[in-house]
Amino acid sequence: MQNPRQAARLLLEWYARMRRDLPWRRTRDPWRILVSEVMLQQTRVAAVIPYYERFLARFPTPESLAAAPEEELLALWAGLGYYSRARHLRRAAEAIAARGAMPRTAEEWRTLPGVGDYTAAAVASICFHEPCAVLDGNVVRVMARLSAEAGDVSSAPVRLRLKELAQRMLDPRRPGDFNQALMELGATICLPRQPKCLLCPLAAHCRARAAGIEEQLPVRARRREAVKLELDLAVVLHRGRILLRKRSENDGRLAGFWELPEVGTLPDSFPRQFLGSFRHSITRHDYAVRVWRIQTGRVLPGFEWQALPALAMLPLSSMTRKALELAGIRVASAATDPDRLPTLRPAQPG
Ligand code: SF4
Repeated sequence: MQNPRQAARLLLEWYARMRRDLPWRRTRDPWRILVSEVMLQQTRVAAVIPYYERFLARFPTPESLAAAPEEELLALWAGLGYYSRARHLRRAAEAIAARGAMPRTAEEWRTLPGVGDYTAAAVASICFHEPCAVLDGNVVRVMARLSAEAGDVSSAPVRLRLKELAQRMLDPRRPGDFNQALMELGATICLPRQPKCLLCPLAAHCRARAAGIEEQLPVRARRREAVKLELDLAVVLHRGRILLRKRSENDGRLAGFWELPEVGTLPDSFPRQFLGSFRHSITRHDYAVRVWRIQTGRVLPGFEWQALPALAMLPLSSMTRKALELAGIRVASAATDPDRLPTLRPAQPG
């Protein structure tokens, strides 16, 4: 790029005019910025907003999260997905509470559990004006196009090149605004498909645009094929209660969550009724889920009866919620329902 500082000036002018008014842009509080950055990883802005507000109303400080039971954290996070983020955030909150003060530099932020280069640079630049460029998915796309980068953007040397370019462009007087402006450009203008180049403040600086190859960039190595799986889940209701199992602390990504039994684990002799099916994707696993209503009043090994109104207080995955909806049980999200009370339309108890 011929003149990175001029490009930065154009970008910041555009950002001042066009930036979206988002809740985390009204604060420089490091805890709030940290929470927003963690939630925004792999989740869309519109989905994050209600969770962000609800979460901070309950956990306004790292100390409040550090002192809370994990089950409450997971119940508040339920529906956002990628639950390891919630656990990492809690461990980071514990570390902040233990050290008695917020970290300031990106290097200090990186020492917290679960805080990587991106989050550390974002918080340090936005809250403490440290001149360090961030590199998230949006910034990678913008930088790859600006520099007409032909290499695979998932490779470490290419990412380093893109980060160095972002660092050269960064305005050291306004590093937080610069980083947010670049991410905003990627989220609203330099879109993965059909980028809106006519509206782009950096169009005159963009080598991909000049060469007419913006839609072909960034280059990514082919992703692995999705794994297709089938799952049969049982909704077992008895006298206003439902049969659930709590996953153990070491039981994978959804450890600590409550889940429905799989049909194959129940005796064939129990009467069953097909309720419907849905598809559900988790990372690269693509599930075809069938849901059955099973009649029994027996407690099964490893499972517990839970009263239906208690469901809103339990961590339930998105897949479990979808399965319950097919049985006429809608559990309001803890993030969107201020009273955290479930809306229940239970099927007739078995
Ligand atoms: S000109 Fe187009 S491709 Fe280049 S940065 Fe702007 S939106 Fe992206």
